[in-house]
Amino acid sequence: MEGDPRRPRQRRPHQQHLVRVAAGRGPPWHRGRTVLIGDAAHACPPTIAQGAAMCLEDAAVLAELLTGRTPDPLAAFHARRLPRVRAVVEASIQLCR
Ligand SMILES: Cc1cc2nc3c(=O)[nH]c(=O)nc-3n(C[C@H](O)[C@H](O)[C@H](O)COP(=O)(O)OP(=O)(O)OC[C@H]3O[C@@H](n4cnc5c(N)ncnc54)[C@H](O)[C@@H]3O)c2cc1C
Repeated sequence: MEGDPRRPRQRRPHQQHLVRVAAGRGPPWHRGRTVLIGDAAHACPPTIAQGAAMCLEDAAVLAELLTGRTPDPLAAFHARRLPRVRAVVEASIQLCR
């Protein structure tokens, strides 16, 4: 059943999360000294099989930033990873349709 087409489609929480990540409107990935990486920050459908790859990239970038001289490494981490993660989440969603 498609539901009433005049009403906006109700999305489940995980679908809302995906749409927000893909649009770059998700919540911040860090608070204080705590940071989320991998699926906890930007889980996506497994359609293009890139979730673990994104997780490994996150770890490498985070390690680089934490051992460098970046003034706010956790904010820099989010800024640096978001465009790449968005592209992957968008592509995964497209393939689901
Ligand atoms: C069917 C399927 C196929 C996939 N195929 C691919 C693929 O081919 N290539 C690819 O790159 N990716 C693939 N993925 C995606 C990939 O598996 C995930 O993106 C990746 O495992 C995410 O790693 P993570 O460390 O962020 O999270 P997870 O692997 O989920 O690790 C989180 C860990 O935290 C533990 N945990 C949770 N809560 C707590 C708690 N309160 N206390 C302590 N521990 C806790 C969990 O038990 C788990 O071990 C696939 C996913 C699925 C579902």
